[in-house]
Amino acid sequence: MHVRRQATAGTRGRSAASALLPFASRPVVVTRARRLPVVPPPVGGEAFASWVDRVAGVLDVPPGQAAQALGLECREWSSSTRPVFFGVTLTPASLVGLRDATGLPARDLRQMQLARYDKTALDLTGLDLAREGTLTAVAAREWMMPTWSRACPSCLAQAPVWPLWWRLGIAAVCPVHRCMLIDVCPACGVRLRRGSERSPRGLLTRPPLPEVGECANRPPGGPKGRAGLCRQPLASIPTRAVPEGMVELQCRVLAVAHGSRACVVGEPVCGVDWFAALRYLTAMARLAATGDEIEGLPAFAAEAFTRDRQRRATRPLGGGGSQLGAMPETAAHALAVLVLVDRVLTAPSVDEGAHQLAPWAQRLSLAFNPAGLGVP
Ligand SMILES: [Zn+2]
Ligand SMILES: [Zn+2]
Repeated sequence: MHVRRQATAGTRGRSAASALLPFASRPVVVTRARRLPVVPPPVGGEAFASWVDRVAGVLDVPPGQAAQALGLECREWSSSTRPVFFGVTLTPASLVGLRDATGLPARDLRQMQLARYDKTALDLTGLDLAREGTLTAVAAREWMMPTWSRACPSCLAQAPVWPLWWRLGIAAVCPVHRCMLIDVCPACGVRLRRGSERSPRGLLTRPPLPEVGECANRPPGGPKGRAGLCRQPLASIPTRAVPEGMVELQCRVLAVAHGSRACVVGEPVCGVDWFAALRYLTAMARLAATGDEIEGLPAFAAEAFTRDRQRRATRPLGGGGSQLGAMPETAAHALAVLVLVDRVLTAPSVDEGAHQLAPWAQRLSLAFNPAGLGVP
C-alpha cells in the first residue's frame, strides 16, 4: 500500500536541494511494510546502502524494491527510488517501517546511518527531518559522502560489505590491508557508488541490474540500458601500499570518530572538538604548509595536496570545494592533511603545540603582510 505526501523540500530549499538530491522535488512515498521472511543481519559497522543491497540479494529483487519492502520513505523516479535522507539518518516513518519489516532493534538500524558520527566526526546541526533540502548545506559543510563512498578493493573481495566509515572525509587507508582507499572507478571515472557523476542515481527498481561486485556506475555519454553500466569488478582495482605509521594514524583518527577519548596538545577534548581542531588545522595547512613538509609525504599524497592548492588558487572566490575547511576531495588528500596536522594535534603540551605551529603562523603572517613579503 502506498501513501503519498507532499514533497518536504519546500520552496526555499528546493533549488539548493536539487543540486545534491534531484529526487527532492518528487513526492514521498511510504510503503506499508509487512514482516519479511528473512533479512541478513547488519554486519558491525556496515553502511545502510550496503545492507539494503544485501537485503535485495536475499529477496532476489532490485534494491529499489527492497527499500520499498523495508518500509522506507522514498522518492520515486522513473526506474529508481531514493529513500529520504538515505544513509544519513532515518525519518520516524522509515524507522517504523524498518522495525515492522525486520524486527531489528532501532539501535542496530541507526548504527548504519552517518548520523551515528554526529558529535564526533560530524556535526549535523541544521539537519531538519521535515525538510530534506537542509541536507544540502550540511553535506557541503561536513566531511561526509552521502551519495558516494571510498572503498578498499581487498575488503570487497572478501565480502560485499561496505563499512560506513568509508563515507567519512577522513577515510584514507584500509587498516586491514594497509593500502589506500579508492575514490573513483578507474574504468568509468565516476566516484564509487555514485551512479552517475552529474547527479546521484537512486536505487534501481527494475532491470538492467548490475552483478554483485561490479562498479555499475553509468559514465556520461554511454549507451542506455545494461550496456551503459560499468562492468569493472571492484575487487580487482589496484591499490597503493601505505607506510605503517600512516596505518596507525588512520586507526587513531577512526578511534576518535568511534567515541574514544582524545587529546589536543595534551588536553583532553570531546570528539567534536578534536575534529573541529583537525579541520581548523587543515585550513592552516592548506595555506601555510611548506615545500619541505609536503615533500615528506608519500608522492601520491603530496601530489593530491598540491593539486588541491592549485585548484583553490584558480577558484579563489567560491564554490564549496574551494573553501579552506572543505572536505579532502580524495583519500590521498585526506591522508596528506592527516599527516600534516598530526604533529600539532599530538604535541604533548600547549607550548609544544605552539612551537609546532609557529612556522605556519609565521608564514601566514608574512603572506598577509601588506608589503607582501614572503608570500608563498
Ligand atoms: Zn581492506
Ligand atoms: Zn566504473
